[in-house]
Amino acid sequence: MNPSAQKNHFFTELSGKLDALREQGLYKPERVIASRQGAEVTCDDGRHLINLCANNYLGLSGDESMVQASIAATEKFGYGLSSVRFICGTQTVHKQLESAISNFLGMEDTILYAAAFDANGGVFEPLFDEQDAIISDALNHASIIDGIRLCKAARFRYANNDMADLEVQLQAAADKRHRIIVTDGVFSMDGTIAKLNEICDLADKYDALVMIDECHASGFMGATGRGTHEHHNVMGRIDIITGTLGKALGGAMGGFTAARKEVIDTLRQKSRPYLFSNTLAPSIAGASLSVLQRLSSSTELRDKLHVNTAFFRQEIAALGFTIKPGTHPVVPVMLFDAPVAQKFAARMYELGVLVTGFFYPVVPMGQARVRVQLSAAHTTEQLQTALAAFAQAGRELGLIK
Ligand SMILES: *Cc1c(COP(=O)(O)O)cnc(C)c1O
Repeated sequence: MNPSAQKNHFFTELSGKLDALREQGLYKPERVIASRQGAEVTCDDGRHLINLCANNYLGLSGDESMVQASIAATEKFGYGLSSVRFICGTQTVHKQLESAISNFLGMEDTILYAAAFDANGGVFEPLFDEQDAIISDALNHASIIDGIRLCKAARFRYANNDMADLEVQLQAAADKRHRIIVTDGVFSMDGTIAKLNEICDLADKYDALVMIDECHASGFMGATGRGTHEHHNVMGRIDIITGTLGKALGGAMGGFTAARKEVIDTLRQKSRPYLFSNTLAPSIAGASLSVLQRLSSSTELRDKLHVNTAFFRQEIAALGFTIKPGTHPVVPVMLFDAPVAQKFAARMYELGVLVTGFFYPVVPMGQARVRVQLSAAHTTEQLQTALAAFAQAGRELGLIK
């Protein structure tokens, strides 16, 4: 085969695979927003919508305070560093942010990354090798799965939030040098909260470390928003915390790992996404720092989010929809059937509400849903308008009476 025919074949094959995705209804189109992110957004087709599908838990993403904080940091520290941290990419604002994150989470030290994906991708390989065991929840985030793949440690998997299975896996890993249990603090598809109190007890019993990924928790879970470890009263018992600056904590981008000094020092020396990728932009570091200062002085945003969550959960259930029970601002409204979930999301769009349908393979077969995510920025009026749209679309599609 000559090279150009070979190339053509490559591109034709890709087109075929994309067509197959479209035919199966698994192709993911992207909505284009023409406004700031927020409780309401305007799309490029001019439609104005109430937004129920951003990870904008504290409502900061498009908030003017964040815009001003990022401008102030840009004025002072410039646009970017054109460097990795260890060459000439560390500014005072990065050290201040690391220290603020440590204090907020109750950990000794923190290292910043360009994303939580990188934090998870770069956390295992420097710390564990073939003599060790990583024991991972089956529903952990893709970045944890990838991070574990990059590491030579033995892999053990336990069924989602299943403490009996976790114990079996801990026993199976008993002959390894070090064991670490790894779990999302909150599982984002279901809004399920990991049973960290039981996990920490099992870790004590079987002499294991505990790592949690707090992407859907940092800033609002627990009485003062520290996260799932505060929610479960296990602050001080978690060894490694990874998290994002791209969700509740401002919504731009950036990630972190917090742990004891020896762990963080090791990561600074050896973690590849840290060593070989550019410094977090000063605008993000400065604005994230202002968020942590704000959250440390007041629980107002966190409290508002939980009021909105309780209200929405109660009202959507009262309409007759099935939701996954819980308390987290991720509220899965179960529609079960994939085409129904797609039709429902499309009708909601026409009615002025932005929600996304999730179906296999993102969630198990027969578990299709729209996943609502509440924000502190939502007003009661916006939530009532959204609930009225749920009621209308639900009746039209024969899902509720
Ligand atoms: C969103 C998310 C990530 C990735 O965070 P980024 O900072 O966007 O890379 C990692 N883990 C979990 C559990 C997440 O929800």
